[in-house]
Amino acid sequence: MDARYLEPEIETAARPTLRAVQEQRLHEQVEHAYRSSPFYRRKLDAASVKPGDVHSLDDLRRLPFTTKDELKQDQADHPLWGTLLAVPFADCLRVHMTSATTGRPLAFLDTRDDWYGFYHSYARSLWAFGIRSSDMVMAAFSYGPWIGYWSGFYAAQDLGCLVFPAGGFGTDQRIDALRTYPITVLGCTPSYALFLAEQAQKKGIDLAKETKIRITWHTGEPGASIPATKAKIEAAFGAKAYDLPGLTEIAAWGFECDARSGLTHVHEDYCYPEVLDEDDRPVKPGEKGELVFTSLYRKAMPLLRYRTRDLVQLADRPCPCGRTLVAFEGGVLARLDDMKKVRGIIVYPRRIEEIVRGHAGVDEFQIVFRRVDGLDDILVRIDPAPALSNAECQGLCRVLEDGLRVGLGIRVTVETTEPGGLPRWDHKARRVRDERSEVPF
Ligand SMILES: [Zn+2]
Repeated sequence: MDARYLEPEIETAARPTLRAVQEQRLHEQVEHAYRSSPFYRRKLDAASVKPGDVHSLDDLRRLPFTTKDELKQDQADHPLWGTLLAVPFADCLRVHMTSATTGRPLAFLDTRDDWYGFYHSYARSLWAFGIRSSDMVMAAFSYGPWIGYWSGFYAAQDLGCLVFPAGGFGTDQRIDALRTYPITVLGCTPSYALFLAEQAQKKGIDLAKETKIRITWHTGEPGASIPATKAKIEAAFGAKAYDLPGLTEIAAWGFECDARSGLTHVHEDYCYPEVLDEDDRPVKPGEKGELVFTSLYRKAMPLLRYRTRDLVQLADRPCPCGRTLVAFEGGVLARLDDMKKVRGIIVYPRRIEEIVRGHAGVDEFQIVFRRVDGLDDILVRIDPAPALSNAECQGLCRVLEDGLRVGLGIRVTVETTEPGGLPRWDHKARRVRDERSEVPF
């Protein structure tokens, strides 16, 4: 049988061994950032920290945080790449961009070694899902400056898989290729996986029966770590679905393994994670907090204590797979920036998805935060499966209203649209609209 780990010396390392690797890389990275990045020279000088002060992981707390807003401001003030850039421009191999909802996207540069680190750690995740060189892989992400397509493609190639580059294909062409070629693995966003299945179904094609897909992996959105969404994808493809969380600025930093225990492992030799409470103190195992990463490998744009705005829960149990890497319970639990307050209650859109996706009659949905008669209100619009009768649609709305009221602790209005009435997403889905003029956050 195949080895379970791609790099057992790291993935199953004794904690002191891993810590030594991390501390060595941390020290080098802080030295490099201070010496070569004007951005970090300024920040560390302002915090009165010298690289020589940072030897151990505990010393990390002396360093100031870095935020995405700071990086965007740096690039706006010093176009095009900002003062963060810590290597000669000629040493850069690739540029990727974050998917900005407002303003110019953040441009991120990598050297050849940086780029290798990004896709090689990603390959370690694909291996953990059970993907091997005998697999044929379709990367069904959009071809462009988004890192998701390229890193998935290169990672599969790194394992020696036969890669089908479907980045420029439309949905119909992708469905045709999945039926024609012996493609066993599909990588895409979870929203797109559901869209692909829906489009196939409309043509009378059952992807679970008419393709050879055995593994799907999903990135760009946390859907594959939401049990109901994952179950829907697995049923549509007759395959096992895996979550692969990542950040353009840091790494494809985590993966669920073939033990499928609900834990997400972290490539902590590439990026050192801190999980911090509201007062920026480390949480205890079992507790939730904001994920903060320090890149231990990227030299072009080295990030120290980067606030991800992702909420995670530090695991307090080992994974049966035997990996010693730090793990989170259930992937990214919420984006702190997505948090909404409705009549004094905190609501995360992910929680609504968890409840809505548990119902087979829902093909797509949209969440609207609005104000009705001066009061905050939540409307969930459901795009029903075409097979449902009017009465079944009405029944589904009532069942969902009950489920959401119990699950969120607040009354929610649910209504249906015409089948196919809501937008579908082939990249990052935008299912949430906030129509309130004054948002309390
Ligand atoms: Zn595991």
